[in-house]
Parts: sequence; C-alpha cells; structure tokens
Amino acid sequence: MSRPTKIVIDLAALKKNCHFAQSLSKHGKIVAVVKADAYGHGATDIALALAKDAAMFAVSSIEEALVLRDSGISQPVLLLEGCFSDDEYQLAARHNFEIVIHNDLQLNYIISHSLTSSLTVWLKIDSGMHRLGISPNKAFQYYQQLKATDSVDKVILTTHLASADCLDMGYTEMQLERFISSIQPIIDSSDDVELSIANSAGLMAWPDSRSDWNRPGIMLYGLSPFAEPHSIAEKLNPVMTFQSEVIAIRTIGKGEAVGYGSTWVAEQDAVIATVAVGYGDGYPRTAKSGTPVLVNGKRATLAGRVSMDMISLDVTLLDNVEVGDKVELWGANLSANEVASWAGSIGYELVTRMPKRTRREFID
Ligand SMILES: *Cc1c(COP(=O)(O)O)cnc(C)c1O
Repeated sequence: MSRPTKIVIDLAALKKNCHFAQSLSKHGKIVAVVKADAYGHGATDIALALAKDAAMFAVSSIEEALVLRDSGISQPVLLLEGCFSDDEYQLAARHNFEIVIHNDLQLNYIISHSLTSSLTVWLKIDSGMHRLGISPNKAFQYYQQLKATDSVDKVILTTHLASADCLDMGYTEMQLERFISSIQPIIDSSDDVELSIANSAGLMAWPDSRSDWNRPGIMLYGLSPFAEPHSIAEKLNPVMTFQSEVIAIRTIGKGEAVGYGSTWVAEQDAVIATVAVGYGDGYPRTAKSGTPVLVNGKRATLAGRVSMDMISLDVTLLDNVEVGDKVELWGANLSANEVASWAGSIGYELVTRMPKRTRREFID
C-alpha cells in the first residue's frame, strides 16, 4: 500500500542498552539524553519507553522539554544549555526542569530574581572542551553565590568530556584532574556535593568519569561512540533500522554508467538493483560508490550517486535478487557508523538527520 521506506525503532533494544548503561555505574543515576528528537529516534516514544529506567532526561531547549511534559513524562528534565531568555526561568521552575548555568548572564539572572518555586541548577565548568562552562577558577565563587540564592535548592557540578571516544589520549585524564581540582574547595566545604561528568564514551571507557549522574546519549541508541572497534561496544544493540526494498532490476553492459553524473561505470556486465530510498529519506548524499548496503541480509555496494528518492546498487555478486527484496541501509545488521565512514560523517549525524517524511515504526 505504501512506499516501503521506513525506520524501525526497537524499544526492547533501547531498554537493554539503558540497563547496560546502568550496570556500568551501579550507584550513578541515568540521565537519558533525548535531545534532537532523541537523536532522530522520536523523543516522546523513547522517553516513555525509558520512563522506568532513566532517573531523568536531558534536552537542548525548553521547547524540547515541554514536548516531554506534554506526553506525560513526569521525571525532571535537564536543559543542557540552560535558559536562552529571561521568560524561560519561571517556566522551567513551574515544570520541574533543571537548568545548566554556564555563563555570567545566566548566573546573574538566577541570583537576582525570585521564582515561584526553587529549582536545581547544574553548574557547568569548562575543564577543556572550551564550548560551554565557566572557568575552573571561578567554580567556588559561583557555587557559593548559587547556594545563597533562594530560588536555587540544589547545585550539581558538571563538566563535559571532549575526547572520551579517543582511548589513547591523555586529554580525558587532564580534564578529569582539572575538574576535580577546581571543585576541591567545594567538596571540602560541603558534604552533599553531586557530580555529573560522563557521556556514553566516558561511561563505557573511563571509570573515573562515572559519578552521581551519568549522561549517556548515543549508547542508548545502540551506536558505539568510539572511532575504533572496542569490545565493550559489542554489548550495544542498534535501535534504529533503516529499511526499504528493491523496486527495479536491470543488467547493463560493460562500460555503461549508472546514475546522475555517470560517476559509476560498469567494469564488466553488471546487475543493478534500484532501491526506494534517497537523500530525501535521510540516506546521506555524500555516501560514496562502494558503501555497503544489505540486500536480503547480504552485502551489496552503492553504485553511483545517491538521488533524492532512489539509490542504485551493484548486486552482480549476489544470487537471485528480485523486486520486493528487503534492503537494510543501516541498523541491526549493518552499523550506521560503518555507513557513515563512507559518507564523511558519523553515526550520530546519520540517525539524527532523518527527515519527517520517513515513516517511523516502533516495535518492542
Ligand atoms: C549530547 C550530550 C551528551 C550525550 O553524549 P553522547 O556522546 O551521545 O553520549 C552528554 N552530555 C552533554 C552535555 C551533551 O551535550
């Protein structure tokens, strides 16, 4: 009845990944990162599926947080970039959102305005990512100011790792040391300090980054955060499978070209399968000829440029390919990270940039 192009979201795999994340830090709580529509997986369905397993959710804006509230999510929701304008603070307090404070503007607002109810703030310290966060030498002063503010009932100390996905770099150790030494005066002066450091790569590969509140994103969706193969990543279960079907097959002679720009030329007689998926469905246009694609579970390769609604595959080496055969672009049997490496991208981006028109189906 309809074009066969869709993404299937496996909620059982999602829950398994979340349990695995929890098992890595038994005493830490899970802040499930569901920004950018849960990395393209559908924030409300993902959050509802994790409602029993995640202590909290994290998003990038108050609009994303309100979507979760509207769908019945009652846990606290963390705004990872804090508030962008003054009207958001009152709204955040009303809805039990927790906010990051990462600059002077945000600090000054919160210490000089009263809110209808007090909220938890996450004081973000820049330990080396150099994107958001206050300078480490201001941590104690900011903390004291926040603690003295009526509208603040709790302060969590946080930082973000820049290179936790690179296992052989000393950068993560440097960041951890810098973070801990910047908050040492706070730890010395208070007995209820809570910390949040780890993203997926930290949680999986850097035990010292595991703390009270861990913030996994990509691992929940079953994708490895690491550039290189890593045994721990084999424990993850891909959540999104991107599928379509073969809609045409032809044999072309040696020397014939395929697709726009005639960039792929048959070196011998070749069988070409046309698949109903293109960049208009979220398949990256930058994917090069040779990118693996599964047809009936077997590897074929992309031949020529990706069109808006179609791609062509060289299936010469496969037996009996027919119209209607199942095609997996990435997912349970082919990692989005591998496909991304052919497209100058990363798995994070491929799954996150799925367009609206691509139908989502949830299974559990
Ligand atoms: C996106 C994000 C995360 C999650 O990162 P992953 O690599 O997907 O695990 C954690 N913390 C912050 C501050 C983020 O912006």
